[in-house]
Amino acid sequence: MLLGILKETALGETRVSLLPESLKSLLAQGIAITVESGAGAAAGASDQAYADAGAKVTADRAALLASADLLPMVNAPEAADQARLKPGCAVIGFLRPLDAPRALAAAIARPVTLFSMELVPRISRAQSMDALSSMATVAGYKAVIAAADRLPRLFPMLMTAAGTIPPARVFVIGAGVAGLQAIATARRLGAVVEAYDVRAAAGEQVRSLGAKFLDVDLGGIATEGGGGYAAELTEEALDRGRDLITRTAAHSDVIITTAQVPGRPAPRLIRRAAIEAMRPGSVLVDLAAPAGGNCELTQPGVEQNIGGVILLAPLNLPAEVPVHSSQLYARNILNFLALIVKKGELTVDLSDEVLAGACVAHNGSPVNPRVAKLLAPTHSSV
Ligand code: NAD
Repeated sequence: MLLGILKETALGETRVSLLPESLKSLLAQGIAITVESGAGAAAGASDQAYADAGAKVTADRAALLASADLLPMVNAPEAADQARLKPGCAVIGFLRPLDAPRALAAAIARPVTLFSMELVPRISRAQSMDALSSMATVAGYKAVIAAADRLPRLFPMLMTAAGTIPPARVFVIGAGVAGLQAIATARRLGAVVEAYDVRAAAGEQVRSLGAKFLDVDLGGIATEGGGGYAAELTEEALDRGRDLITRTAAHSDVIITTAQVPGRPAPRLIRRAAIEAMRPGSVLVDLAAPAGGNCELTQPGVEQNIGGVILLAPLNLPAEVPVHSSQLYARNILNFLALIVKKGELTVDLSDEVLAGACVAHNGSPVNPRVAKLLAPTHSSV
C-alpha cells in the first residue's frame, strides 16, 4: 500500500499532513510512503528529512495522486486532483463537506472513500483525532498575539517610576476551544478578560481561567445542540447577546470573537454600533471569518480600519504557526489512520462509529446525510 503526502495547494497554506517524525510507525507496518517535493518545506521539513525518515520524494504530483492508496491531506484536493484519485483510495483531511460540498462533488462521485476531519465525532475515544480542537487551540493563541501586536497599548499592568499603566481589557466571544485558549493567552499576557458564550457550561471553564463570565438571560431557550456544540439561536436570543456585546465593547481594548454553530454560517453578533463604541486603536479579531464572521462588518480575509478600530478577519491562523500546527495535525491524522489501516492494509469498516461519523462519501455516493441533502439537485446552496 502506498501513502502519499502532497504539497498543499491552497493559497497561504503552510501546513503539511504528516511530518518526517510521523512516518516511523507507518513504515514499520510495511506501508510505502512517497512525498511530493516541497510538501513540508514551509513547516520546517525538508525533502531530505522525509528521505532520511524512509520516504521516497517525487516531483510528479499527478503520478502520486494516481498511485496512492491513502492520501492524508490538510485541505480538500482541488477538482483536477480529485479526477486523478486512484479507485479504492481513501482521502482524509479538512474537506469542508458541509460548507463547500460542491467543491468536493468530483471526488464524491469517484469510487473512493472520503473522510473529513471536521466530522470526526467528538466522543472520548476520538479525542486524539480531534483536529478541529488542535487547530482552534493554535488559532485562539495566535489571535491574541496578533491583537497584542497591533494594539497601541500594553497588555499587562505595569507599575513603573514613570507611572502606572492599566492592564488591557480583552473581551472573548464564544468560549469553546479557540475562545478558552484566547482567554488563557490574554491572561498570561496580563490582560483583564471578560467572556460570553451561550452555553452555560462554558461559564465554569471561563472562571477557572481567571476571566469574568458575562451571563445573558436568553429566556430559558435550549442553547446546546448535539456533541457539546451550541444550537442555532432565535433572532430574539441573538439580539440579547448583541446588546451585551455592544455594552461590553465600549470598555474593551481587544475583542476576540470565535462563535460558531457547526455547518451554519457564523452568527452575526457584533453590530456596527459595537465597533463604533470602541476606542480608536482598539482591535477586533474575528476568528469566525471562515464561516462568514461574527461581525456584520467583517470581510473574510480582509483587514479593515473602521474609524480607527482595526478589524482583522484571518482565514487561516494555524498556517501562521506551521511547525506546531503540522505537528498537532499529524498526530491527529496518525491516530485516525490507526482506525483504517490494519497490518499495513487499508480496511474501512463503516460500522465503527468514528469512521461512520467522519465518512463523507464511499464508493461514489455520499454517506453523510447532510452532505447528501446539500448535494441533492433541489438544494440551492453552495
Ligand atoms: P465551535 O467552534 O463550534 O464554537 C465556538 C463557541 O461559540 C462555542 O463555545 C459555542 O457555544 C459558541 N457560540 C455559538 N453561538 C454563539 C452565540 N450566538 N453567542 C455566543 N457564543 C456562541 O465550538 P468548539 O470550540 O469547537 O467546541 C464547543 C464545545 O465542544 C466546547 O465545550 C468544547 O469543550 C467541546 N468539545 C468537546 C470535545 C470532546 O471530545 N468531547 C472535543 C472538542 C470540543
